[in-house]
Amino acid sequence: MIDTPASLATPYRSHTCGALRAIDAGSAVRLAGWVHRRRDHGQLIFLDLRDRHGITQVVIDAADAPTAHAAATAARSEFVVTVAGTVARRLPGTENAKLPTGDIEVQATSFTILNEAKTPPFYINDPDAPVDEALRLKYRYLDIRREPMQQRLLLRSRLVQAIREVHHANGFVEVETPNLIKSTPEGARDFIVPSRLQPGSVYALPQSPQQLKQLLMVAGVDRYFQIARCFRDEDLRGDRQPEFTQLDLEMSFVDEAAVMDFVEAMVIAVSKSVVPDRPIQQAPFPRFTYDAAVERFGSDKPDLRFGMELVDLAQDLCAADGTPSSGFRVFDEAIAAGHRVKAIAVPGLADAPRSRIDELTETARRFGAKGLAHLAIEADGSIKSPIVKFLGDDLAGRLAARAGATSGDLVLIVADTTDLTNDVLGRLRADLGVRLGLVDPDVLAYCWVHRFPMYKWDADGARWDATHNPFSGVVPEDEALLTTISGDPTRPSPDDPAGRARAMQYDIALNGWELGGGSVRIWRHDLLERSFALQGYSEARMRNMFGAILDAFEYGAPPHGGIALGIDRWAALLAYQTNIREVMAFPKTQSGNDPMLDAPSEPDPTQYADLGLQFVGISGKSA
Ligand code: ASP
Repeated sequence: MIDTPASLATPYRSHTCGALRAIDAGSAVRLAGWVHRRRDHGQLIFLDLRDRHGITQVVIDAADAPTAHAAATAARSEFVVTVAGTVARRLPGTENAKLPTGDIEVQATSFTILNEAKTPPFYINDPDAPVDEALRLKYRYLDIRREPMQQRLLLRSRLVQAIREVHHANGFVEVETPNLIKSTPEGARDFIVPSRLQPGSVYALPQSPQQLKQLLMVAGVDRYFQIARCFRDEDLRGDRQPEFTQLDLEMSFVDEAAVMDFVEAMVIAVSKSVVPDRPIQQAPFPRFTYDAAVERFGSDKPDLRFGMELVDLAQDLCAADGTPSSGFRVFDEAIAAGHRVKAIAVPGLADAPRSRIDELTETARRFGAKGLAHLAIEADGSIKSPIVKFLGDDLAGRLAARAGATSGDLVLIVADTTDLTNDVLGRLRADLGVRLGLVDPDVLAYCWVHRFPMYKWDADGARWDATHNPFSGVVPEDEALLTTISGDPTRPSPDDPAGRARAMQYDIALNGWELGGGSVRIWRHDLLERSFALQGYSEARMRNMFGAILDAFEYGAPPHGGIALGIDRWAALLAYQTNIREVMAFPKTQSGNDPMLDAPSEPDPTQYADLGLQFVGISGKSA
């Protein structure tokens, strides 16, 4: 990016602090910025002057500019100053190759302190200085002055710009949807805003613009996108905040492939524009069905930067007639119960000490496993494990080979229900892949996971819950499965064919994070009614929650589908971060606070009165 001096010039500066080069030597210039560093050599004062664009060295010589020198004597770190002077090449040997402006300095003729600054609570000029995050958030405006945050916010800005460019070039219309709406469920709690004009009523902040974007399709907008702020009241984690930003899009007259193809091309174009040096591992992106992803990686957001796939050991554990015959009770019982015995081969951990194995077992237990078996493949190919005495050397060797292990590897084995086995091994795989450094941190491994189950049985509610969006469409081949054994969609049961139906739902993952998800929607009335009935929505509840969309669907809804991608997550991964707070200007803490603005805070009593509210406390907690 090149600063154009003319467009950035203001009454305070002719150039930014990042603009001047050797070719400018001899020019009269004016700069403005913050004092980054100050070195006082008596007659000569050296100042590094900083703004968002860079750093320029300024020299104030008492002999040449006594007034400027006197003013500069009072300047301290982070004072805001403006300097006029002449650009000069630095003396040979004193150039600073680390700075783009390092060949020159500005010899000051005048120097003005525009504003003083208190000593900051942490070093602004040392990007590597460790600073407590609470302090960074309290003084976020100072934190953002520091180089790393500046770079990350710039990257985020370039990301959003690139996204906009690709969408505009592909016939999308950017439409803003309101934030004061009615609940749009996305599986979280709503933030609600009481209405003053209609006391007793509330707006909900959007968990996503889902219904509105579908209405825009009925409205004939054809292709919509928005950089949309979404609000979800849920517990915070590294990749979650109560408010976050999505790239939200919807397209008309599309099937699954059309949406996925556009999104993939967009993601590639945006990645190449924002981080041109980071390789995309594979394009076209690998596409896995949900079942295959979970079988192979134990995750619906697999990290494809390393192998370590999950391998089923059943065929080696059974006799020819299928009866379990391993000799190790835990495996045999699991197989007999119809459960699974699966493994991963972890490279280089064969000589892990006992304490490391204990730690892995403890981690597996935390993930829900009852235990974790292991086989260590020694350098000579022999197998060391407490369970070899049950399995025998031969079977232990075959299991290790089946798991794909070679000398030096440690095979980890879980025997449990299908879901638990896959989940525990998937989490161990994800954790170990990163911790053992099996990933190239530069690589961007995007992939698709699609064909999710349409519903999940909710035993408490005795109904089929949509696994994603209640409007997700069913894959055409599975349309006939949207039925119940009873024949009445309002009387579902856990063995219904509906449980086998797959949704036209697709998620995009990047380096083990879910980057986004979407679906082709149900746009036909008959299917929508059937699906809602299976999900246990009564007519009245359905109308109450989705009245607008149900009405709109009576007026000619085109086939449509879309997706939403988390901008914060995408920016974080492109900026090598594992916490989305690092790419948000003003994020909340883990407990949902903004320590800088002191939010949330108690309202002014008149605000409650205007809304007809009174805080009575939450049962069990004092008011
Ligand atoms: N509304 C969905 C979400 O926020 C995305 C989509 O289906 O387009 O996750």
